[in-house]
Amino acid sequence: MTHRSRGAAQPLTLLSGVESPLLVLSDPSAQPLYVRADEPFSVERFLDIAIGAAAALSQAHVSGLLHRDIKPGNLLEGADGVVRLTGFGLSVQAHPSGHMPVSDSICGTLAYMSPEQSRKVERRADQRSDLYSLGMTFYEWLTGRLPFEARDAVEWVYCHIARQPTALNLYRGDIPPVLSQLVFKLIAKNPDERYQSAASLLADLRTCRCQWRQFQDIPELTLGQSAGDPVAHRPALCARLSDEEAAVVSRSSISIPGGQDTLDLSSVMKAAQALSEETDQDRLIEMLMSTTMIHAGAQRALLMLVKNDAPQICALGQGDDTGLQIELTQMVPTKLHLPLSILYRVMRTHQRLLIDDVRADAYFGADEYLKDQEVRSAVCLPLLKQRRLIGVLYLENNLTPGVFTASRAGVLELLAGQAATSLETARLHDQLLRENARRQDIETALRTARARLAQVSQATMMGELAASIAHEINQPLASMVSNAAASLRWLNRETPRIGEALSGLHDIVQDGKRAGDIVRALQSLARQDAQHRRALQINDVIRHVVALTQAEGEQQRVLMTTDLTRSPLQVMGSSVQLQQVVLNLIVNALEAMSPGDHVLRRLSIASHAVAEEYLVVSVEDTGPGVEAEHLGKVFNAFFTTKDKGMGMGLAICRTIIHAHGGQLYVMPARFGGTTFVFTLPAAA
Ligand code: ADP
Repeated sequence: MTHRSRGAAQPLTLLSGVESPLLVLSDPSAQPLYVRADEPFSVERFLDIAIGAAAALSQAHVSGLLHRDIKPGNLLEGADGVVRLTGFGLSVQAHPSGHMPVSDSICGTLAYMSPEQSRKVERRADQRSDLYSLGMTFYEWLTGRLPFEARDAVEWVYCHIARQPTALNLYRGDIPPVLSQLVFKLIAKNPDERYQSAASLLADLRTCRCQWRQFQDIPELTLGQSAGDPVAHRPALCARLSDEEAAVVSRSSISIPGGQDTLDLSSVMKAAQALSEETDQDRLIEMLMSTTMIHAGAQRALLMLVKNDAPQICALGQGDDTGLQIELTQMVPTKLHLPLSILYRVMRTHQRLLIDDVRADAYFGADEYLKDQEVRSAVCLPLLKQRRLIGVLYLENNLTPGVFTASRAGVLELLAGQAATSLETARLHDQLLRENARRQDIETALRTARARLAQVSQATMMGELAASIAHEINQPLASMVSNAAASLRWLNRETPRIGEALSGLHDIVQDGKRAGDIVRALQSLARQDAQHRRALQINDVIRHVVALTQAEGEQQRVLMTTDLTRSPLQVMGSSVQLQQVVLNLIVNALEAMSPGDHVLRRLSIASHAVAEEYLVVSVEDTGPGVEAEHLGKVFNAFFTTKDKGMGMGLAICRTIIHAHGGQLYVMPARFGGTTFVFTLPAAA
């Protein structure tokens, strides 16, 4: 193998190790040039090994090789201090034209891999790609870390294409600016902006070392001016590697058969699935932005939703060295946000627009937005749902021209289609949630209003009750007055008739007591006082009131009948209040039947026990009945059809029954009259 230069480590044999093949090299004391994160190389040491590495790489390139996997682990430093290159497993011979043959695989080690090796950009890898990886290696040697951190292959590729590395002196103050520029020149996204050959790099590094040794600084140096050797365009000089060498692939190096498309397809499937599963609009938008930005290698992205033909920006995405920032917003797009000429073209045509080098584009290059912005490539995609434009996605990269290839745009379109469907679903979902929330708000408001109404009506009811005390005690008072007058007359007789007077006074006492009872009952009702309740037989209440009203019934030629339950069930209640209810219902019934001359005048009072849980009392008359339109109003306070009525009786009855945990209803009776029914829960 005479062609092999001194820059490459000499392999002796290949052993099959436990985890990976083990390559035995000629210089057993050679060490890979790893750097410790907390102990980066001094400038002096860096310059020494960087020169060694550049020299080794230059030789490989001169030999017509493209290494494709430059990284610290593949640069060995021998005991003799010479830096050698190993890990040629992914190397290929440079194409005679100077360009690499088209390869279907992305290869290299992701952390060090040039944008063109990831084949996201439509350029082929050439020897400048090795310089990029060497630049990454230099970065690591000087700072102890890589400029990017990523979790998976897609993110690594994104970093190399779209992310600007952090300046070196952020990590370390003693790096001369020229050295920092040199590293940045190596890791430029665009190969044309890098060193064009390892030889040119080597020349600059040597000047740097010279200055450093002299001044402990590198005061001034125009990079890339030294005589370079454009090996990238030089025909291949020498032969291929042995199969043995080609079989050695560094453990962390990758070669994905099927290439970028495979990588895309699986991650795109994942992304599309994630998009289809997300129903929260905000999260969906964030996911759409980050997924498409990473897949496209975009540094800036705008998502616009179109409503009534008017686009509105709903998310802004920006990639920088700290990662991707997605901001949800609502803005009308202006010339400050994106090239409006591109946006309007896409909105009009519903076709995606792909611009390789925006500044060079004859039509869009004149857009006002581009005057102030560095944009190299842009892609603008319509989001269509059943041919309806629901949004527009705009992505740009301001570092590399040609980032958005047609095949990448195809993948993006796939995602955009999925996103359009999901966005529409999310929008509907969102709308539904909003409507639901609104309905809930309305329901809450309604409940509050009802509660307030109940309070108000309760207060009104209390006021009315107070007012109705007059009504309720009017009768005993009137009877007291007439009894007192009668008693006076008995006493004022020449021969006072003491017995009659006494009887009148006795009645007055009774009436006074009744009035007192009523007042107390109303008071306790007003307090909703449950303390005065006791267990009682509802039949006793009924019998008592029937006894009181029997005479009046007879006078009005009304047949009063009772049909009382034999159930021993009791109710918890105030007998005075319940008597009042029954009395009111009976008096109403008698009043209803008094005018006119119906043949049948019957008042039936019945009680039943239902399922050992309730007692039901009904008062049924054969009067004219309640007019249908009044059925809903008879319990309203002050509703009356009587000349001298107050319309308070039934309202009070219902309040009393409710206070006892029961219900009071009115319904037409079987033979044209009226039935009032109330229920009371049985005492436990
Ligand atoms: P008031 O008797 O003082 O008018 P109520 O609350 O007792 O007040 O009754 C309200 C109205 O309900 C009455 O004016 C009457 O129109 C109707 N009403 C009550 N009971 C009967 C009944 N048994 N038959 C027909 N109408 C009735």
